[in-house]
Amino acid sequence: MDNMNPDTVAVQGAHFIGGRYVAADHAMEVRRPSDNQVYAGLPVADAAMVDRAVQDAWTAFKTSNWARQAPRDRARVLRKWAQLIEADIATLAPIESVGSTRPIRDAVRWDVPFTAEGIRFFAEFADKVGGDVAATRSDTLGMTIAEPYGVIAAIAPWNFPLVMASWKIAPALAAGNAVVLKPSELTPFSALRLAELAIAAGMPPGIFNVIQGNGHETGDALVRHPRIAKVTFTGSTRTGAAIMAACAESGTKPVTLELGGKSPQLVFADAPDLDKTARMVAAAITGNAGQVCVAGSRLIVERSVAEQLVAGIGAAFATLRPGHTWHPDTTLPPIIRPADAARIDGMVQRTLQAGARLVTGGRLLPVTGEGGYYAPTILMGVDAGMEAVRDEIFGPVLTVQVFDDDDEALALGDHPSYGLAAGVHTANLNRALRFAHQLEAGTVWVNRYGRTDDFVIPTGGFKRSGMGKDLGRQAYEANLRFKSVLIDFALPV
Ligand code: NAD
Repeated sequence: MDNMNPDTVAVQGAHFIGGRYVAADHAMEVRRPSDNQVYAGLPVADAAMVDRAVQDAWTAFKTSNWARQAPRDRARVLRKWAQLIEADIATLAPIESVGSTRPIRDAVRWDVPFTAEGIRFFAEFADKVGGDVAATRSDTLGMTIAEPYGVIAAIAPWNFPLVMASWKIAPALAAGNAVVLKPSELTPFSALRLAELAIAAGMPPGIFNVIQGNGHETGDALVRHPRIAKVTFTGSTRTGAAIMAACAESGTKPVTLELGGKSPQLVFADAPDLDKTARMVAAAITGNAGQVCVAGSRLIVERSVAEQLVAGIGAAFATLRPGHTWHPDTTLPPIIRPADAARIDGMVQRTLQAGARLVTGGRLLPVTGEGGYYAPTILMGVDAGMEAVRDEIFGPVLTVQVFDDDDEALALGDHPSYGLAAGVHTANLNRALRFAHQLEAGTVWVNRYGRTDDFVIPTGGFKRSGMGKDLGRQAYEANLRFKSVLIDFALPV
């Protein structure tokens, strides 16, 4: 895909309901983040369109065999879907890359295969997680039956459109539910291709639907629809709180929330390889230009190695190549919108005015076209009260705080409100275990930063970073409800 032409990538500005595209008037423009050019229009589903999608999903849930069939048959359809997604890479990867901040090389190597593998992972649970028989008196049979909820609403963010959507929809579908997905209005198209491929794989029409639109209108109507039995959301903490309130008001619906973060990377003087650690720390804040929920945005480093480590991180930053997502050499993609690049710069400038010291970056980057790009930035001399240390920036901005002993490192590591992930770099096993236990974070990485493809490890945040898990057995079980059945029977004497 070295010669990808962004102008030839075709997308459908439509909903996907009941197994087919549903056209509607375009109420929004969708822009390519790389150059800020409008390349498609998008409908905004109103309450009537949301109702149509949810009712279609409910009808499919009740009348198709999706939930009733042998779970292995459902798993077979999901595995076929994963296979078709992989085979579709020449179409799917450019759709993802042109419309988002994902460089084409990464979309090919990671986003598309990772999406397919995630679906395969959850397919395997379909016939392996069931209910229990309880230890009751011998004249009663007590059972706990695991059953799907019905129709689940999935709401996804823009930063990894395919992968984030797949973490919501794959466990829900594998458990036998029907799903209505609302992708982000900024990155709405790759989900439609997924829906097309689901039909090709043999999924009954209406089991997986995609509706387009903004959050406050379409997303809110979806969450509040009376037929929605559960909501699974990934996005900002602010939106997560609004969705939780809407779930409470519209039927005390259970909700899974994967929200924002302000994750620390703690580096001790005994970190196994300081040069390698510097490259890891740099990658953890510049991957996807820092637009990652688990971005390691707060470096907390032992004083004796701070200077050397920061120099190594700066050197790693200097190797990054900003550019359009469709350019095969790009390693620093755009910020999702120029306004967000300006927002990031505002946070950096205000933190500098509050007394921070700029080591590198701190400015917008010029790249051909009108996209917003931001220079990887290091801020030193910061304290916990400063904006860039306190608030999620969602850009390539690293703050540096220095510590002298373990207790100080632990105190700096915990954020007052977020608790998504943390990294600890040390060769001392006792220290690694102490920090793994004591840091308030849903995931702690030791001597690494970032996920592997071990889908069995759940991910999710503490505190305002969310509730519930994506991935792992926990995510599958969260898409089931457990019914207790007690049967009396007369034993022959
Ligand atoms: P966002 O909250 O602005 O939007 C996310 C989705 O919610 C979009 O589809 C949007 O249209 C929808 N939405 C907005 N308001 C809504 C409402 N009132 N009701 C229903 N839906 C509504 O987030 P974003 O800017 O798309 O994504 C970035 C954020 O997501 C960051 O905070 C990031 O940390 C977080 N994130 C978290 C994880 C995780 O696993 N914890 C993963 C990726 C991103």
